[in-house]
Amino acid sequence: MTATTSNRLPLDWVTLLFMAAVHGMAVLAFLPGNFSWTAVGVALLLHWVTGCLGITLGWHRLISHRSFQVPKWLEYFFVFCGALACQHGPIMWVGLHRHHHAYSDQSNDHHDSNKGFWWSHMEWMLREVPAKQDISRFTRDIATDPVYLFFEKYFLVLQILLGVLLYTLGGWSFVLWGIFVRMVAVYHCTWLVNSATHKFGYRTYQTDDRSVNCWWVALLTYGEGWHNNHHAFQYSARHGLKWWEVDLTWMTIRLLQSLRLAKKVKLANSSVD
Ligand SMILES: [Zn+2]
Ligand SMILES: [Zn+2]
Repeated sequence: MTATTSNRLPLDWVTLLFMAAVHGMAVLAFLPGNFSWTAVGVALLLHWVTGCLGITLGWHRLISHRSFQVPKWLEYFFVFCGALACQHGPIMWVGLHRHHHAYSDQSNDHHDSNKGFWWSHMEWMLREVPAKQDISRFTRDIATDPVYLFFEKYFLVLQILLGVLLYTLGGWSFVLWGIFVRMVAVYHCTWLVNSATHKFGYRTYQTDDRSVNCWWVALLTYGEGWHNNHHAFQYSARHGLKWWEVDLTWMTIRLLQSLRLAKKVKLANSSVD
């Protein structure tokens, strides 16, 4: 599929209007009456809970790639943290991610970086890409799990409940920063892994795609920016492979390992219990 035919795919109006509304609300947070440093702190804390524990450690390294194992209750906790990032439900997310690895930068990769930065960053999501209808063959291990199905169905309700909690604790300022600014920040950090780390950086491994390692994306995404390493060793729980490739998610997995909560941790070229 070429860029031209991709641009002709019908718009996904629900996602488009949702994203426009969330970005619009995030702008309101910067008006003087809505700003407070406490609210910024709430946003940063929730960025870590949803972006690091939820998406990066939970949905990506633990579930999509099964690069380590944790007790089921802890797996469900990480799935919950990921659901709070509001990037659709876990089954759709994991299915699309595995689809990306199966067809990286090929014409049927939904965020094929050959179609340009903007396409791979977010435009693919605003269109009815065929991959959205093709996830069932990638999600057989989680598609019938009742907890995953619950979060698949109710992730938006969870976000509303979190918003009510934040309003109770700190009023509109907490809601604007803790929900909208934080969601927009985690969205763009996640999307940079699909766009920037297929474009700006260096290649350590000659993989069959355009993935690169990018230090500033790694800092913004708790270690996900070492994306060329990840495409080369998809099963590895550790993405930063050189000593200076800082990988905060790997450090967290090491902490879980020392607490005997993470087991069967897979590493590039090796696997240890
Ligand atoms: Zn990739
Ligand atoms: Zn991956």
